[in-house]
Amino acid sequence: MANLPIVQFERKILETVEQNQVVVIIGETGSGKSTQLSQMLYRKGYTDYGIVAVTQPRRVAAVSVSRRVAQELDVRLGEEVGYAIRFEDRTSERTRIKYLTDGVLLRESLSNPELNQYSVIILDEAHERSLNTDILLGLMKRLVKRRTSNFKVLITSATLDGEKVSKFFSDCPLLSVPGKLFPVEIFYSKERPTSYLESSLKTAMDIHVREPEGDILIFMTGQDDIEKLVSKLEDKVQSLEEGSCMDALILPLHGSLPPEMQGRVFSPPPPNCRRFIVATNIAETSLTVDGVVYVIDSGYVKQRQYNPATGMYSLDIVQISKVQANQRAGRAGRTRPGKCYRLYPSRLYNDEFLDATVPEIQRSSLAGSVLYLKSLDLPDIDILKFDFLDPPSTESLEDALKQLYLIDAIDENGSITSIGRTMAELPLEPSLSRTLIEANEFGCLTQALTVAAMLSVETNLLPGRSKNNEKKRKNPPLELPDGSGFGDHIQLLQIYEFWDENDYDIGWCKDYDLQVRGMTFVKEVRKQLCQIMQKIAKGSSEVRANQSRKRDQSYRNLRKALSIGYANQLAERMRHHNGFRTLGFKPQLVQVHPSSVLKPDDDGLYPNYVVYHELIATSRPYMRNVCTIERQWVMPILEKLDKLDVRKLSGGGLGHVEEVTEGNMSELPKKEAEVIAPEERE
Ligand code: ADP
Repeated sequence: MANLPIVQFERKILETVEQNQVVVIIGETGSGKSTQLSQMLYRKGYTDYGIVAVTQPRRVAAVSVSRRVAQELDVRLGEEVGYAIRFEDRTSERTRIKYLTDGVLLRESLSNPELNQYSVIILDEAHERSLNTDILLGLMKRLVKRRTSNFKVLITSATLDGEKVSKFFSDCPLLSVPGKLFPVEIFYSKERPTSYLESSLKTAMDIHVREPEGDILIFMTGQDDIEKLVSKLEDKVQSLEEGSCMDALILPLHGSLPPEMQGRVFSPPPPNCRRFIVATNIAETSLTVDGVVYVIDSGYVKQRQYNPATGMYSLDIVQISKVQANQRAGRAGRTRPGKCYRLYPSRLYNDEFLDATVPEIQRSSLAGSVLYLKSLDLPDIDILKFDFLDPPSTESLEDALKQLYLIDAIDENGSITSIGRTMAELPLEPSLSRTLIEANEFGCLTQALTVAAMLSVETNLLPGRSKNNEKKRKNPPLELPDGSGFGDHIQLLQIYEFWDENDYDIGWCKDYDLQVRGMTFVKEVRKQLCQIMQKIAKGSSEVRANQSRKRDQSYRNLRKALSIGYANQLAERMRHHNGFRTLGFKPQLVQVHPSSVLKPDDDGLYPNYVVYHELIATSRPYMRNVCTIERQWVMPILEKLDKLDVRKLSGGGLGHVEEVTEGNMSELPKKEAEVIAPEERE
């Protein structure tokens, strides 16, 4: 890869690294940071006394880049070069260069805070500002003071915010690798189109018919959009009679594609063929596709946003930032001068786009991160004064502390409990970890492991989510178990158990329209969670649960365990209608998501109490994955809420703290009128 810009700076980079403990490297996307830096360090002998770790915010990038580096070094993936992502470790004793997600490195630092196995840690793609990378930045700052020899930290970024990072690390050297981008001509639309999908389709076809060769990269917001556009492009291209003298190859690119499909965008196209790559923002900086000359930028991105005031997630399609728009445009100028078609007016770009994307730490629930930090037992540090590159809001930190308190991970003084420590060792969100621990006590660990694994798998497992699937099927799918009236968690359990009874048959998944890859992954995740539980939780035993208990009893225990794990995610049905009120710090009026198997009974009523996996705000606030629970389980939690004093939790470390006046949650149902009805919220 001698022609990659970064390689020409090898000497300079190695010299600087030799003389400094921390170095920031800025280089255009595609300049070779992810694939080449680790190899340079390898050549220079940094891997003789430790492993070179390269973190990636995205799983797919960790896999794809390590595969590439293994190829370049001509070694088998998993040997000298390997990767580790959650639930998948492809490294061995021989591994010298290890690509891993930032989350996995964070987790490793729990069991080995000094990270002694590593000689160099490269925090790659720092410009993405993922939550875990931001926390790692803070941890690295501490670690370099403790490991003063044989330890280097490199931070790479594709944008100029490198200066801020350099300042954060006491003005460490900042190397900038000039890219060799060709000019990119930018075209703006006169106004926002009513449908960015249709407008992308039209623009892409215009380019295909009129413009000389070169691949087209189209930025969509998510898998749904991508599937729709791919199918429309296929139809259009087929119906083009002699409009273009080139063949066309249409390729989707997003995080949940199977690896062999992702690999297709890196193989060279057949001769005289134009590729249409329809991608999420993954192609902005994480994955570089060569050969792109035309970029179509919808100007949108799908962003998950957490609101600590309501405990609610929303998955919103939002405008990208200027930095993102420029990254997208840059993709067109890698091989020769290119063109970028922005499907929005220049006025919008100038006046409305934010300069930079809001870092994830400022739009995520921090319960998991705060639990990690607490369990690291960092001496001399008040967690809430942790050195963040951009600190999260006080509200968000308070929200995390309250959540952790309610699920017994920290005590009323904010100190981590032994339950909290066990929770931190599980690679799951705190509530799910807490559920497993409780399930172990109640003898339903077997079932809880299954539910945890089903909930952890990101791909859409259940049918009916992807319309494209329906189109292709000949026979309608067979009917899945219905949760026996208890709700979604029980349904997930039943589905897996049913599959188990059918010897994990692949054909069975197809009959029921379940994703084979997803289900197989659930099985693997489950196995791993089970091993971890056996290691960390005393007396943990899967078998104990299964044999002696009847199904209903285990369902009941499981629901109870869920109500304890998700103590901050319970809801009570309103007396006069089927809406629910969440039983949290700031009650919300919410509804059961229409996709839930939990339906009203014969009298048209839902059960009185439920636990939910998450709250999402789409057109309305909905609870997703809902399960019935019993009133007697809710009462102790309400009492705990009553006693909560957030000032103590924060250890006095917070400046302004709001009084918790709504502490008496058990009285809340009477105050129905205060809550804004969902209709009014719209
Ligand atoms: P950066 O980190 O600076 O964005 P990378 O090191 O990721 O740059 O990419 C450098 C080059 O390696 C690009 O030309 C890219 O297309 C190529 N590349 C990266 N990953 C793969 C892969 N899995 N297969 C083939 N080529 C790849």
